[in-house]
Amino acid sequence: MATKYTLPRGTYDILPEDEYKWQFIIEKFRSIAARFNYYGITTPIFERVEIFERSVGDESDIVQKEMYTFTDRKGRKFALRPEGTAPVVRAYVENGMNASQQISKLFYYGPMFRYDRPQKGRYRQFYQFGIEYIGSDNPYVDAEVIAFGSLFFKELGLQNVRLEINSIGCKDCGREYDKALIDYFKPFYEELCSDCKKRMEINPKRLLDCKNPACKKIASKAPAMLDYLDKQCAGHFWEVQKYLKQMDIPFAVNPRIVRGLDYYNRTAFEFIYDKLGAQKAIAGGGRYDGLVKEFGGNDTPGIGFAGGFERLILTMEEQGCTFGKSSKTDIYCVSLGETANLEIAEIIMQLRKAGFIVAYDADKTSMKAQMKAADKSDAKFALILGENELKNKSVILRELKSGKQSEISQNKLIEYLSK
Ligand code: AMP
Repeated sequence: MATKYTLPRGTYDILPEDEYKWQFIIEKFRSIAARFNYYGITTPIFERVEIFERSVGDESDIVQKEMYTFTDRKGRKFALRPEGTAPVVRAYVENGMNASQQISKLFYYGPMFRYDRPQKGRYRQFYQFGIEYIGSDNPYVDAEVIAFGSLFFKELGLQNVRLEINSIGCKDCGREYDKALIDYFKPFYEELCSDCKKRMEINPKRLLDCKNPACKKIASKAPAMLDYLDKQCAGHFWEVQKYLKQMDIPFAVNPRIVRGLDYYNRTAFEFIYDKLGAQKAIAGGGRYDGLVKEFGGNDTPGIGFAGGFERLILTMEEQGCTFGKSSKTDIYCVSLGETANLEIAEIIMQLRKAGFIVAYDADKTSMKAQMKAADKSDAKFALILGENELKNKSVILRELKSGKQSEISQNKLIEYLSK
């Protein structure tokens, strides 16, 4: 017996009944990107593994547990990309983009890969859209990047998406904060998970990001980064908030947002839809002022965000969004007899060239079967070509809803339908 193959766990097929939803989101994303003056960039799906180790962080969950890595025939180690920022910054530096222009505003979308336990809104191959604004540390830019996300979700028709922002400071104020965190967590050391015990030595801020319920509970009372910001970082964060207010973008400050990746500094933010439950962050992002330099470029600041298509679609479905409307068939063609079966091919091509959406099933030969299929379709008209019409060089156009029909000369058909 032939073997039946199934999908790898944590992946899915995008089937025709859903594909238009993806196209709708992509079109909207590209439209906002154009208005915000962003340009598209596409990077490979796999990269050298070091790119993620050095940016996302050796000790991060993504690098430690979630990366799909493989060694090629020459022994080089690669990873399926788990996120989009590091590859974009790699491409930015590699292509000398900061030499050719001061500011690069880039957008991308495509599949990402993380080995995590699949659940609603969490997959092993998932699709992200994202933007990167490289070349400015002006707080206006932080607000503008956030504004991009905010307008995008609004134009998709979403409601009740909350914006939470935080500042995680810079390396200097981060050191003070790390000390405060270590002092706070030390008495709870034995209660922490083994990962958090390691985090205490390597990157104490990650203690705030642990998903383990016991660690989470302890972390909920930990000191807040905001109290440890130095003057410049506090000033920057204040300015970002002023711009957001000026742009009429509602937000809440949540000092618990730390973001799991090493490269972030200063502004961090998330767009949240609570009804999604455990995986409620639709999009998240932040500033990464040291990343370009880390990748061998000039010291150039940057900020961006990324969001997931799957959580966006779940939210949109839950809210009854229409995703534009799926394309409706204009005409269902019906042909009877050998000559008509041949001549209908020409009529179908003419109609499609003129821009109509045309359906036809060459395997159905009886009038009854074809009309039944036409009735079941979402087409506005059935177009019938039988012996009589062949003689008259005409077709019958039947309006499927009302059943009204008329005979139209073939050379007047396009003109008639265009009215
Ligand atoms: P991150 O890169 O972890 O900040 O994630 C940014 C966004 O990508 C999240 O808010 C989600 O919408 C989406 N995302 C991240 N990981 C997954 C996953 N495993 N499955 C589906 N969506 C994801």
